[in-house]
Amino acid sequence: MPRVNTLDMPPEEFRKAAHEVVDWIADYLSDVGTLPVLPAVEPGELIDLLPSSAPEQGEPMETIFRDFQKLIVPGLTHWNHPRFMGYFSISGSGPGILGEMLAAALNVNGMLWKTSPAVTELEQVTLSWLRQWMGLPAEFFGIIYDTASVSTLHAIVAAREFHFPEARQIGDSRGLTVYCSERAHSSVEKGAMTAGIGQENVRKIAVDDAYRMKPDLLERQIEQDIRQGYKPFCIVATVGTTSTTSIDPVPEIAAVAERFKLWLHIDAAYGGVAAVAPELRHVLNGAQAAQSLVVNPHKWLFTPVDISVLYTSKPEMLRKAFALTPAYLETQGHPRALNYSEYGLQLGRRFRALKLWFVMRYFGHEGIAERIRIHVRMAQELAQKISEHP
Ligand code: PLP
Repeated sequence: MPRVNTLDMPPEEFRKAAHEVVDWIADYLSDVGTLPVLPAVEPGELIDLLPSSAPEQGEPMETIFRDFQKLIVPGLTHWNHPRFMGYFSISGSGPGILGEMLAAALNVNGMLWKTSPAVTELEQVTLSWLRQWMGLPAEFFGIIYDTASVSTLHAIVAAREFHFPEARQIGDSRGLTVYCSERAHSSVEKGAMTAGIGQENVRKIAVDDAYRMKPDLLERQIEQDIRQGYKPFCIVATVGTTSTTSIDPVPEIAAVAERFKLWLHIDAAYGGVAAVAPELRHVLNGAQAAQSLVVNPHKWLFTPVDISVLYTSKPEMLRKAFALTPAYLETQGHPRALNYSEYGLQLGRRFRALKLWFVMRYFGHEGIAERIRIHVRMAQELAQKISEHP
């Protein structure tokens, strides 16, 4: 038997090409500031430059890599650029890239504990570390999905499972209503659309002059819906809204959720990471009472896209909503062998925890907190300059 896969690229060729790619990455990361942030391209330009069908015969790696530099790079918007100011801060880092490279090389699938035990267990360990850094309760169970949109969809489905378990069988969510502020991210509405709740049943609560949800209006809307025969089941509060990073008054919203026994989900996709710095932990005040919370290491925790973390105090609701195990995936149960695919829609799971583990170990709690502090200081300086400018 050959010791190597003779159908793949020969190992020596791989080694040589990989060194070239790593050299290119190191140069790119140090020189990205000299490139234009936005590419000077017209829509369709790359499509016109590339052949309309794939090659019949394989091509040498040098040719492919040369075309990557010549054709692909000029069409990129450089999120790594120091003057990239769009959307949210770029969150990659050297250790994160290295973890991602290794995950691609290992190409393992963490759908079950047995399909790669270290994938599952490293996810449990890193999410427990992150939970402690953010000051979240010990009983919060963590799971990685690709994006916050998908995490929030899972939270909405878990909330529906909690209040209306028949939906899994009969597929009927009629009359269920979900609440968020008019400043909430569109992913809440998308999650409701996808879960069969319907856009019309997402109640967008007005905000105050600092763009925070008004809890008294939330309470009034819920009472009105109950009077009209609707079934409120879930409130989504945002910690760090997309456009202004406003923070909904979570303790007051949690009290409303408690009064009506509703599921409270916190969208801390962007802003929640601030809590890693002890003096900024107050951004998550009240979040301890939530049933679920999403935070994205790929937004502000130096981990390359994609990686989103959902924490929940009711993992059994996720499992009830999503577990469906065909015979070929049945494994011998063990109390410590977690099968993450039972807690979500996807079966196959990338080894995303590896890059997070690299990042958390390389920078450490103090290193991450210090970087967040520097970012916050820069934002405050910018705000100061803007308010001083006539
Ligand atoms: N929630 C908030 C507050 C966001 O700012 C964003 C994106 O910017 C999202 C959710 C969606 O994130 P994702 O792209 O991971 O789905």
